[in-house]
Amino acid sequence: MDFAFDARTEELRAKLLAFMDEYVYPAEAVAEEQRAALASPWDTPAVVEELKAEARRQGLWNLFLPDSEYGAGLTNLQYAPLAEITGRSPQLAPTALNCAAPDTGNMEVLTQFGDERQKKQWLQPLLAGEIRSAFAMTEPEVASSDATNITTYIEKDGDEYVVTGRKWYISGAMNPDCKIFIVMGKTDPDGDDLRRQQSMVLVPRDTPGVTVKRAMRVFGYEDHSHGGHAEVVFDHARVPASNLIGEEGGGFAIAQARLGPGRIHHCMRLIGMAERAIELMCRRAVSRTAFGKALAQQGVVHNWIADARVTVEQLRLLVLKTAWLMDTVGNRGAHTEIQSIKIATPRAVVDIIDRAIQLHGAGGVSQDFPLAELYAGARTLMIADGPDEVHQRSLARRELKKYL
Ligand SMILES: Cc1cc2nc3c(=O)[nH]c(=O)nc-3n(C[C@H](O)[C@H](O)[C@H](O)COP(=O)(O)OP(=O)(O)OC[C@H]3O[C@@H](n4cnc5c(N)ncnc54)[C@H](O)[C@@H]3O)c2cc1C
Repeated sequence: MDFAFDARTEELRAKLLAFMDEYVYPAEAVAEEQRAALASPWDTPAVVEELKAEARRQGLWNLFLPDSEYGAGLTNLQYAPLAEITGRSPQLAPTALNCAAPDTGNMEVLTQFGDERQKKQWLQPLLAGEIRSAFAMTEPEVASSDATNITTYIEKDGDEYVVTGRKWYISGAMNPDCKIFIVMGKTDPDGDDLRRQQSMVLVPRDTPGVTVKRAMRVFGYEDHSHGGHAEVVFDHARVPASNLIGEEGGGFAIAQARLGPGRIHHCMRLIGMAERAIELMCRRAVSRTAFGKALAQQGVVHNWIADARVTVEQLRLLVLKTAWLMDTVGNRGAHTEIQSIKIATPRAVVDIIDRAIQLHGAGGVSQDFPLAELYAGARTLMIADGPDEVHQRSLARRELKKYL
């Protein structure tokens, strides 16, 4: 087993680490300041566009896309350590590199399932970072972790589809640059096969009948840096029938294909978030004194730091193994590992960030450190992209099958 990164990965890592130091970390405070002065907090701060231009100039662009016709052509194993680095500044770095969710998943869907017209109209501007996109599946009225529950109706009417339904927590949709929604709904709600009832259609934001109603909050706050998480109403929104992605009834399968890479990307970034939390924890521990000694001299702090390091090393190995499996045997062959990392990583990283917050005292929950935002991001990943229990259920069932 060779644990070394290959030459291309090392070269990109060095470039990206320098980019983070020179451009991204200094831009964190600038982005906050600029956002406060914007007419709407959902607009994109100028510094983000500057970061995008610089990243593109340096060739740090679309690294997530394994298809070299459209992106960098990296394997999952090559991309994993790069995504980890971007996770250290999750509000800025993934966007700067055009590697942010949900655009990444949407671009993957369009490269794999989009036709030439759809690619030209929506994929090209997304690849160029000119627009943003959203993925609209979850609905407030039904338990949406079970996609067969979705009620949004996509009704065929001549050469159009009419989309009617209500979605929420649609990430990115508050950002006015988000011009296109991939909407999951049912074209055949009474069909016998529960997994063939769903389809996906492209619905432009400016379609009559589409209303971005409000920003849903996360722990009581609005998530400005990610374009928010919107409630979106589709009230008889009409789109050309050619906006269907793939085939009618193919929505479920596309959703499955979309989520494999998306989940591993989240886990890679989560490890970067944990690394940032450990770094902050150590810096704080050596710089604060309480009851006559540095926090770094307290045994309990040693335990926190050591446990965090051990956990991160374990998680990284599992994520890299999963990436390698996805590259060698495909997403299906890596099913158990993808679920394992999706279950293991957010909860362990939440715990590490929680300790880092504790060590910072009030500062830990303040806006002066990134920890509170990191915590919210990691905690919500125990729900988003499928709650932990759903992955546990499916993993356990596969495990039990061996004994039935
Ligand atoms: C910050 C954030 C961003 C999001 N972004 C998007 C987005 O961009 N697009 C989008 O479509 N959705 C998005 N979501 C929604 C997310 O994907 C859903 O919340 C998630 O799939 C769960 O669906 P639900 O909220 O309807 O919960 P439900 O399906 O109602 O489930 C609630 C709880 O029930 C339990 N549960 C469910 N099934 C089982 C089971 N089989 N066994 C045991 N327990 C179970 C779990 O604890 C689960 O958390 C986002 C959510 C958040 C918080």
